[in-house]
Amino acid sequence: MTLENDNELTELIRKAALLNAVQHGGKAQMGPIIGKILGERTDLRAKVKELTVLVTENLIDINSLSIEQQKRIIEEKWPETLRKEKVDEEKKLPPLPNASKYARVVTRFSPNPDCVLHLGSARAIILSHEYARLYKGLFILRFEDTDPKVKRPNLVFYDKIREDLAWLGCEINSEYIQSDRIPIYYEYAEKLLKDGNAYVCTCIPDEFRKKTLRSEPCPCRNFSPAEQLKRWERMLNGGYAEGEAVMRIKTDLNHPNPAVRDWPALRIIDTKKYPHPRVGSKYRVWPLYNMAAGIDDHLLGITHIIRGKEHLTNGVRQEFMYKHLGWTYPEAIHYGRLKITGASLSKSRIIQGIKEGSYTGFDDPRLATFAALRKRGITPDAIKKMIIDVGPKTADVTLSWENLYAYNRKILDPNCDRYFFVPDPVKLRVRNVPRIFHAEIPLHPDKPERGERQYVITPKGLAKEAAFWIAKKDSDNIDVGVFIRLMELFNIKMEGKSADEMEASFVSEAYEDARRMKAKLIHWIAQHELFPCQIVMPDASISEGVAESACKTLKPNSVIQFERFGFVRIDENTSKLKAYYAHK
Ligand SMILES: [Zn+2]
Repeated sequence: MTLENDNELTELIRKAALLNAVQHGGKAQMGPIIGKILGERTDLRAKVKELTVLVTENLIDINSLSIEQQKRIIEEKWPETLRKEKVDEEKKLPPLPNASKYARVVTRFSPNPDCVLHLGSARAIILSHEYARLYKGLFILRFEDTDPKVKRPNLVFYDKIREDLAWLGCEINSEYIQSDRIPIYYEYAEKLLKDGNAYVCTCIPDEFRKKTLRSEPCPCRNFSPAEQLKRWERMLNGGYAEGEAVMRIKTDLNHPNPAVRDWPALRIIDTKKYPHPRVGSKYRVWPLYNMAAGIDDHLLGITHIIRGKEHLTNGVRQEFMYKHLGWTYPEAIHYGRLKITGASLSKSRIIQGIKEGSYTGFDDPRLATFAALRKRGITPDAIKKMIIDVGPKTADVTLSWENLYAYNRKILDPNCDRYFFVPDPVKLRVRNVPRIFHAEIPLHPDKPERGERQYVITPKGLAKEAAFWIAKKDSDNIDVGVFIRLMELFNIKMEGKSADEMEASFVSEAYEDARRMKAKLIHWIAQHELFPCQIVMPDASISEGVAESACKTLKPNSVIQFERFGFVRIDENTSKLKAYYAHK
């Protein structure tokens, strides 16, 4: 095969060249790319000339692209690489538009308390909070709980959301609850009706829709303000039943987007049947999203709304109301969709699953709720860093659990003490151990100051035997006759194997011998130094085994690394260690 037909190679060259180009202002350098390719494809060292030709051809092509185009290709094809580059240079958020126009930047996060928060909310929360912090402004939490029927709020979630924000380190400067503010929305509804900028519509929704699609007004639109106020009174006092009347904001009936035309602002909900968890049946007319959010953004002095681009049309709708009220719409930043592969971010599916018992609760490890991530030892800083690196850009982004784990690992690795955990323990007897061994295993290989775990291995009997626990997975992969190094202890040779026991004999102590013999390194627990341990895995399965006895003193909530297994967060530590698995 000639190099030109080697698709894999071409791909490798393009990737290396694009990454190099974005690091060098859009112009890739020949030398480093050739070096990189030869590092990965040693088979090409004899074909450097041919390779150089191929790289040159690709460079001409790639260097003719703008840096934005180059970045876009990388983002599409190798998103993980670009993010890695960005982490290394400690990415900063782009400046907010027109920040200097305002005395103080004010942002908000406005959840509906109908579920706990999950990764899908992380971008709105973290960007809004981070911008407020960067500009020494204010970050407001606003509960949007004005739908007691379909998106019914639940008292439990107000607190859970406050807890989640605190855990994320997103301190709020003030909090508002929309169900406390109903009279305010009424006041503006009346003003809009009085000024002829809104109307109470009693049309059958389908009829209304048909008219609107033809850019025709419904009969209700042209009634006088006095008549509108009468109808409004009927909405309030029960003269209309649920579904019989809505208040609509007048917009442009010729607006190119029919969804913008005369949108509904307030509607009736039978709160005798669907009492609100906070204010019961006190109100029967409830503002819809655009009315409540629009009024509040102005009244609370929000200067920058940072939200997903699915809200673009809402912005257009609200601007009509702002115009009627003589207000200026805040700056709005719309970011693209953020997908996290393998994470279920559907609130209804989460709640349904818990109801049906297929999830153990909001912190079930299979969920991407903050409660679940917290339980598993995912740090808020990892989430924050990941979101800030993605930033507020409008392009859609797909991340994976692996991306989040990479951020988390970077934070945990230098800080977490290390221990041994043996899942599915199998006994290992080692004969001919010549003397007592004192194993002193550092808690962290790079941080001797943290201390060590100490175990004394005392050979017993004529056979000078010492016994250990090793993982079944290790024992399955070890054949009789091979050399093994018990980590930080000594080297052994396997001599016999049965279903639940392994036999071996002592060979030597030096690590160099293990290297020379290419011995596999496995971890172990001395026979009597075991502590029962149970680990809940991300798929909710349970890994049972034994941890080394030094784990007896671990405190709940601490995160440690079980060597050759992964990071875990200690959940309980009584007569047994219970932990949740984070990642490798
Ligand atoms: Zn109508």
